[in-house]
Amino acid sequence: MSRFVPLSIPNFEGNERKYVDDAIDQGWVSTGGAYITKLEEKLAEFLHTDNVAACQSGTAALHLSMVEAGVRPGDVVLVPPLTFIAAVNPVKYQFATPVFIDCDGSFCMDPVKLQAFCESECSFDGSQLRYNNQAVKAIVVVHVFGNMADMAAIMDIAKKYNLKVIEDATEALGSKYIDGPLAGKYAGTIGDFGCYSFNGNKIITTGGGGAVTANDTKVVDHIRYLSTQAKDDVHYYIHNEVGYNYRMTNIQAALGVAQMEELPEFICRKQANYQLYRELFEGFELGKLIGFREDTYSNMWFYSLEIDCDKVKGTMREIITALEQCGVQTRAIWGLINEQVPYKDEVTYKLEKAPYYAERILNLPSSTQITKEEIEYVAAQVKKVLGEFAHG
Ligand SMILES: *Cc1c(COP(=O)(O)O)cnc(C)c1O
Repeated sequence: MSRFVPLSIPNFEGNERKYVDDAIDQGWVSTGGAYITKLEEKLAEFLHTDNVAACQSGTAALHLSMVEAGVRPGDVVLVPPLTFIAAVNPVKYQFATPVFIDCDGSFCMDPVKLQAFCESECSFDGSQLRYNNQAVKAIVVVHVFGNMADMAAIMDIAKKYNLKVIEDATEALGSKYIDGPLAGKYAGTIGDFGCYSFNGNKIITTGGGGAVTANDTKVVDHIRYLSTQAKDDVHYYIHNEVGYNYRMTNIQAALGVAQMEELPEFICRKQANYQLYRELFEGFELGKLIGFREDTYSNMWFYSLEIDCDKVKGTMREIITALEQCGVQTRAIWGLINEQVPYKDEVTYKLEKAPYYAERILNLPSSTQITKEEIEYVAAQVKKVLGEFAHG
């Protein structure tokens, strides 16, 4: 039998079938039902936050945060270049303008460059930051692969310049600071808004789904209202605002409640598997495993190998194809968002690290059900394939 180790697959070892059956038996399958509320409560309890609104997707959570942050046509939003494009597209949904700020060694936004951009490229009159006479309204900070951005520094800058902070914690559910001024704070609960995704590849999944929290509980209530078509009366069709069909369904939430029961176990497995990869790649001269911030407890959702391009001559595509032939599914990190067609004319600020990592990062299999033996196999194949490309 030929072997196949997938990059990342969902794990339904718990009560998923039981709760989904229950939702179907009750007939509550759409955007109303007890599982939605239950999932919101479980998330709020887990994250130590007051209020969470469940949505159709992480993208919907990000879009509603952008709406609620007051981002309007012609405004500017500061965004990362090296992440999944869904973090940035909501800027365009609002007909606003993204400006791309470089990342640091954590793949997350570099606060030094963020500060430098605000100070040297913008004007500030004490209340409104402006770039090219456009109002700068918000920052989208993505906690990439479960690593956390330097939120203490970013929040200081945001306060100084009166900017809203939207945390894209779609990959970092469960990551938190354990040291420093933000000790105990979870990814997504530090900025003005925090967005989560439960897509099939994330640490927990509801098939498709997401959630949003905010530092102001009334804002979360308003997001929930907007997500259900802004309906103002239980019995009559009265709408005082333009709403969206962004609410999570009860079937998705039934899956989510079961997945939340397993989240602590999933995080433990991700961490243990990361440690194993770490040991296996110790001293490997053609690539090194990227670490997670020391002052955080990370969910270690995704593993990144930085390939030494000076020694390894193959292209990323060739490497991925060669590994696929050995039954190991890997992927390249994202292409830079500022190089994608809808964004190629937008402003970038001192991008150095993002293009550097964009060329070098290979993501390794990271499912929660991967076995020790499979990880050993993956590491051996990666070493073999990179070795072949290094020696011509
Ligand atoms: C997955 C992801 C999203 C989007 O979440 P969906 O639920 O797929 O809409 C947004 N940002 C980042 C960084 C992601 O990884």
